[in-house]
Amino acid sequence: MACAIYPGSFDPVTRGHLDIIRRAAKMFDELTVAVLNNSEKTPLFSVDERVNMLREVCEEIPNVKVDSFSGLTVDYAQQQGAVIIRGLRAITDFEYELQMAQTNRKILPSVDTVFLTTSLEYAYLSSSIVREVAAYGGDIQEFVPAYVAQKVYAKLETKKHGQ
Ligand code: ADP
Repeated sequence: MACAIYPGSFDPVTRGHLDIIRRAAKMFDELTVAVLNNSEKTPLFSVDERVNMLREVCEEIPNVKVDSFSGLTVDYAQQQGAVIIRGLRAITDFEYELQMAQTNRKILPSVDTVFLTTSLEYAYLSSSIVREVAAYGGDIQEFVPAYVAQKVYAKLETKKHGQ
């Protein structure tokens, strides 16, 4: 069985991520979207909240499951017997992603990285742009599924009231 993992922060999942998920799911028997539990970042959503949002928006794609992990992505990929999927939006992504993929191959040569280029309509999109636009009261419906937009606004409202 050909398995892949699609690791990332997904804080929150965007339509750009979903595009990669749908396309990767067609290429592999099983795709695991894996939320990285990275203690160095201060996320808007907890890992559990991100996992739950991903499960909700990926529900209709049968061969996709959602998980979280800590530690090295290559170790997690090897445990799953999977290749790593990453999305490339621009040349600026490429420099970092190439370095990451080469480092990962150095650590564990058996784990490959597969790059999918972003659909042009989502090339500008990032989770940080979504968080920023929403924080200033902008409309994010075009960037994320309606379910996610609602969660983002609710979370920002909770944060505003210091909860
Ligand atoms: P990370 O913090 O690991 O970069 P992200 O959640 O920002 O996590 O991104 C996860 C993966 O999705 C990365 O490979 C990234 O390049 C890709 N990605 C991010 N935004 C988009 C987008 N708009 N279209 C396609 N791929 C994207």
